[in-house]
Amino acid sequence: MMDFCRSVWTPEEVLRLDAVILASISDAVIITDLGPKILAVNPAFTEITGYDEAEVLGEKPSILKSGRHDQLFYQAMWATLQETGHWQGEIWNRRKNGEIYPELLTLNAIRNEQGNPTHYVGVASDLSQLKLTEERLQRLVHYDPLTGLPNRLLMEARLQHTLERASREEKRAAVLVIDLDQFKIINDSFGHAVGDDLLVAVTHRLQTMLRGEDTLSRLGGDQFVLVLDALHDYQESEILARRIQAALEAPFILADGDKAYVRASVGISVYPQDGATAPALLVGADSAVHRAKELGGNQFCYYTSALNVQARTTLILEDALRQALEQEEFLLYYQPKVDLRSGRIAGAEALLRWQRPGCGMVPPLEFIPAAEKNGLIEGIGAWVIQEACRQMYAWRDAGLAEIKVAVNVSARQFRCGGLEEVIGKALARYGVAPSHLMLELTESMLMDKPEEAVARMTALKRLGLRLSLDDFGTGYSSLAYLSRFPIDQMKIDRSFVIDIVTDPGAATIATSVIALAHRMRLEVVAEGVEDEAQVGYLWQNGCDQIQGYFFSKPLPAEEFSELLRQGKKFPALEASHQSRTLLLVDDDIPVLTALQRVLADEGYEVLAAESAYEGLDLLAKNQVQVILSDQRMPGMSGTEFLSRVKVLYPDTVRIILTGYAEMDVVVQAINEGAIYKFFSKPWDIQPLRTQIREAFQYYEGVIKQRRESPLRP
Ligand code: C2E
Ligand code: MG
Ligand code: MG
Repeated sequence: MMDFCRSVWTPEEVLRLDAVILASISDAVIITDLGPKILAVNPAFTEITGYDEAEVLGEKPSILKSGRHDQLFYQAMWATLQETGHWQGEIWNRRKNGEIYPELLTLNAIRNEQGNPTHYVGVASDLSQLKLTEERLQRLVHYDPLTGLPNRLLMEARLQHTLERASREEKRAAVLVIDLDQFKIINDSFGHAVGDDLLVAVTHRLQTMLRGEDTLSRLGGDQFVLVLDALHDYQESEILARRIQAALEAPFILADGDKAYVRASVGISVYPQDGATAPALLVGADSAVHRAKELGGNQFCYYTSALNVQARTTLILEDALRQALEQEEFLLYYQPKVDLRSGRIAGAEALLRWQRPGCGMVPPLEFIPAAEKNGLIEGIGAWVIQEACRQMYAWRDAGLAEIKVAVNVSARQFRCGGLEEVIGKALARYGVAPSHLMLELTESMLMDKPEEAVARMTALKRLGLRLSLDDFGTGYSSLAYLSRFPIDQMKIDRSFVIDIVTDPGAATIATSVIALAHRMRLEVVAEGVEDEAQVGYLWQNGCDQIQGYFFSKPLPAEEFSELLRQGKKFPALEASHQSRTLLLVDDDIPVLTALQRVLADEGYEVLAAESAYEGLDLLAKNQVQVILSDQRMPGMSGTEFLSRVKVLYPDTVRIILTGYAEMDVVVQAINEGAIYKFFSKPWDIQPLRTQIREAFQYYEGVIKQRRESPLRP
């Protein structure tokens, strides 16, 4: 110690000087041997620790241990000291009275002439005062002195922290700016001291409503900011805003017994949609609170969403969707696909339903677009696949027919990696044969990037699955790609099926799809089949399967099991082409009856329709070879009717009954090929009979010729 003095003073003087210095400095000094046993301490040591020198002599410095540091800490300290001869750091020690305090400790080894350590000296300054000052300073910097709430600085730091966490955990957070209405009047009429008391009382009420993780702060004046951490639900902020307003409703009793009423306006901004940073959210909430004031105060406003009901509804929907998977609110309905030849159930399409609390059963088109947008569809889609496989397993386990199930796959789900893995796992888990699972993909999702789609589909096919092209006809399939897609099935979109019996355009599309699919050796399913006429038309045109309300609506799994258990079959569609069927169409009922009578004993099956539409319906349900139609009919004329029939049923032989007045139109229809012959009114019985007989012969001749000609399909 004091080496620099040695050259000036004698050793005795140095010792005395050392003793004086030791006694007068305010830092605690402790000298030990290598034991380390305490050999000497100075008065400051006693002052700081509370131990007299006599109490500690011969003891180890560990009597001061606070218990705040573990064994490793002390081991490292001693190791450094022994190795380098020096250690310095902050350490917590315990005073004699048990109080724990921080100190800055410097340890040095004293070495002899040979350089070997002989003693250790520790010098420690008590940091507790410093810490207290620092804390006080911290409070001043970070807290509002009146209410003890965090101030703007601390609130902003916490908000930043909240946002980082919300981003990591994909949760929402919210900022509520709470501004007391007309607080100035209270200040002015009762004085500032009362105003201050009231602010403290308001703070207490607000604090009772908070969750542990929320931060209430005061920005000054009568403005508070509440930061809501990790919201599950967009509406939580709204609920809290309402509760704040309710909590302030009861009057505040002032010191002199007077009552004061306080109301508040609240502005809400929500992370992430109203802003991604603390400043943006604060500005948003602030402008919202201004709007709440403009609207008369004592209410809350959202930053953007309050203006936009649609956006709010979407947010609420998204929040509810997020929870729907966890809460097991989804379920699958199954709709049969029926084989038109056997009448048996060939498979089922799994259709997602959401049993949303308070909203009943929500159909998929109301929530899938939102789920697709925010990415939730991937989780939901994986659940659908897994649940469909589980159901297939359950049906098999119950001894029911092994049923093939198709699930719908969304564009995002198809594009994201990992679909194969999800499917592979589900199939393996429930022991489902891959060929029993079908994926329904829509044209639009494939045509977006057709090359990529081919690659993805090929990978899926490698698992052994079957693929179906859903809603066919609504997208923009290029035929070139269509032939490259490794699909097994095509589904004719419902929009073409609806008018298939009456609208030649829709019918042409449907029959072309059937022909195209068959040429590509694909199975064809018609979707949305609702009535018998549609079934008949599809059957006549060789459609393989139908799906629609006519046979069954989508059913809960239990009800679908019942269909399987009963072995429900579609009434077989008998081929009726052996018989000769004649369709008569006339709105004039006596004429219709007369015609029926005249042709009664010709051996035909005679169908009678009182309008063109009824005629189209009968044509769909029956195989008709010859049609005799009146020209002048309300709604749709005979020529128009037969023009449509020409497209819908090109092989039929079409005859019209007309007066001379309509001859022009009839001639034109004949020239266009819509009509085979015409009869002028009034008609004679015998020629009519003959002509109709010839018409059947003509029909049969054409069909025979076609069968024999190898060039015609
Ligand atoms: P989609 O795949 O074309 O399914 C056929 C839709 O037509 C179903 O509507 C079904 O209930 C309805 N439908 C069936 N037969 C008839 C009928 O005869 N008449 C009428 N009017 N409608 C009929 P849903 O269940 O509302 O599903 C609508 C769409 O939602 C589906 O169209 C599909 O694109 C999508 N979807 C359904 N489930 C899922 C799913 O699990 N995941 C994905 N990504 N999309 C799904
Ligand atoms: Mg589908
Ligand atoms: Mg479809």
